[in-house]
Amino acid sequence: MSDCIFCMIANGEIPSNTIYEDDDFRVILDNGPATKGHALVLPKQHYANLFEIPEETLAGAAKVAKKVAANIKEKLGCDGLNLVQNNGEAAGQTVMHFHLHIIPRYADDNQHILWNPTKPTAEELVEIKNTILGE
Ligand code: 5GP
Ligand code: ZN
Repeated sequence: MSDCIFCMIANGEIPSNTIYEDDDFRVILDNGPATKGHALVLPKQHYANLFEIPEETLAGAAKVAKKVAANIKEKLGCDGLNLVQNNGEAAGQTVMHFHLHIIPRYADDNQHILWNPTKPTAEELVEIKNTILGE
């Protein structure tokens, strides 16, 4: 995808703060970080989202995230860490090239990455389950 910013960054056509690279992935620092060390795992091939990315590439992204997260935890001393992956505008995706967020968390970092729980009834949950299972 010649007009995709993350294709250009992943393939080194645009400079980035790279903290990991191999044949298939580049991990960069997010330029609008939620917290110190917020990084993005970018596949070098273009896939828009979770629905397009092949299983093997997704598994590769998870392996890279684990390795990079361990390094971030060791070097930056974060207290926790979120892995976040947005698909579609409704879910907050703004760059339509698959990416996995690695977000180190610090006590009192004042970020709000978790959701507000809702209260479906037991029947509503069963109905949703049956819809997903096609029953
Ligand atoms: P999304 O909302 O699509 O899941 O996440 C996109 C992320 O990419 C955002 O956190 C945003 O700050 C980051 N981002 C967007 N453009 C660039 C860029 O050109 N360089 C870097 N390093 N990060 C970017
Ligand atoms: Zn792309």
